[in-house]
Amino acid sequence: MAYDVAAVRAQFPILHPVAADDGTVRPLHYLDNGATAQVPRAVLDAMVAHETTARSNVHRSVHRLAEAATRAYEGARQDIARFIGSQPAQVIFTSGTTAAINLVAHCFGARLRPGDEVLVSVLEHHSNIVPWQMLRERSGIVMKALPATADGRIDLDRLDDLVTDRTRLIALTHAANVTGAVTDVARVVAAARAVGAEVLLDGAQMVPHGPLDVPALGVGFYCFSGHKMFGPNGIGVLWGREDLLADMPPFMGGGEMIAHVTLDRTSYAAPPMRFEAGTPPITPAIGLAAAARWLAGQDLAGAEAHLKQLTALAIDGLSEMEGISVIGPTGTQARMPVISFTMDPLHPHDVAQILDSHGVAVRGGHHCAQPYMDSRDIAGTVRASLALYNDRDDVDALLRGLHEVRALL
Ligand code: PMP
Repeated sequence: MAYDVAAVRAQFPILHPVAADDGTVRPLHYLDNGATAQVPRAVLDAMVAHETTARSNVHRSVHRLAEAATRAYEGARQDIARFIGSQPAQVIFTSGTTAAINLVAHCFGARLRPGDEVLVSVLEHHSNIVPWQMLRERSGIVMKALPATADGRIDLDRLDDLVTDRTRLIALTHAANVTGAVTDVARVVAAARAVGAEVLLDGAQMVPHGPLDVPALGVGFYCFSGHKMFGPNGIGVLWGREDLLADMPPFMGGGEMIAHVTLDRTSYAAPPMRFEAGTPPITPAIGLAAAARWLAGQDLAGAEAHLKQLTALAIDGLSEMEGISVIGPTGTQARMPVISFTMDPLHPHDVAQILDSHGVAVRGGHHCAQPYMDSRDIAGTVRASLALYNDRDDVDALLRGLHEVRALL
């Protein structure tokens, strides 16, 4: 059966704008999913149901609501574990990908010594660059970066000369947020294993496309954000291999991360609690689990084929337009539906602003990837990032809008 995009769209209230008082309806072609995706009714309902029937703190009181909240929160951990093929004890709730990477930089980083090397790439989001620079300031580690290929992929041919016997961690994006390029994880893991290093993958742009068997990837750490996978914001996940988590000191100190506290010393809880100090984001975790269940229940093979078609359509349309250069792979293999381009001589912000006046929401700028923009000698790109509810109308509106931008010049 053909992929039923209309049935998917119908589940997202925001995609069906209501008329304003004067009767006008502003169209919405939402193509900024790489920044934040929208939420389906099922996720909103799960959060409202929790807030209205079981709101309480978790792991503390013994009353009925507290027990219901604890069950729901730990149930959410189990759902996320199932979604990524893991055990619940290896799932740590954080506030997002950024917090997850900072956690690893602090806690795994605490074991690193001056001269130990962390290898990133020039295509990383700032959240996978700055925490390592901060660790470098604290601990004297050495940071190296893989360059990018001309078509916007991490240049893995350079692994041979950049991985050394001092490499302790290779921290890379699983799918690049500017170019959509998907990283060949097996190659990275092989290079890391050859020198006994670990791999961290930033899955922020990967996980919105469906469940993954994270342990089978062979990496040490994996992280992602709820708000990009049809869940709420303020919640994300760090997955860590059991032995690595067991060996790491805590990140923040406070309630829930302890085994026993005296005024002289504290012993710490086992993972995952060791890394979840304070009241956790309970309702967001429940929303995230609902998003994971919702996503796993979609026609994902159909969505993938549908998004490949839309990506090809968008890239073909862009390639025909004067002054536009696609920044990233121009094929549909090993790439996500994230399409960046420049439009000479306009600044990406101006293009995004004009598109907005046509009801097309895209992002224009450096996308928190300034090192990559510098490496291409550009100020930024316009980025159209698609999700499984986008349809041909959205891509047509983008291309039509760009023709109108061109006509204004
Ligand atoms: N990594 C990538 C690849 C991203 O696209 C983003 C979000 N733009 C992040 C990390 C940061 O995610 P968050 O802001 O949710 O922590």
